[in-house]
Amino acid sequence: MNDEQWKFFFKELEKRLNFRYTYLDGKKIKAWDCDKSHRLSTNILSEMKIRGLEMEHAMDLLFKTGGKCDCEVIFNSKPKILIDKDPAKNGKRQY
Ligand SMILES: [Zn+2]
Repeated sequence: MNDEQWKFFFKELEKRLNFRYTYLDGKKIKAWDCDKSHRLSTNILSEMKIRGLEMEHAMDLLFKTGGKCDCEVIFNSKPKILIDKDPAKNGKRQY
């Protein structure tokens, strides 16, 4: 997957996880919809027509970067994958 595809993937995943604030015992807490699987991630990848070996590689990268479920993909994999791919944050920018 190229950078644009990863950016689209993470944006779409964040939307579907539905990050929001809620109240528990009067305390404001962050909530989201993760069922501890990669259901949303695999759905988005299929919709992006990522399949077969490319899908395997993408999921492999998510696991390796700490994304053991949909929400961990956002918390752990997103910063690693996007920063690694962003030349500005790698100090490689040429101008
Ligand atoms: Zn999760």
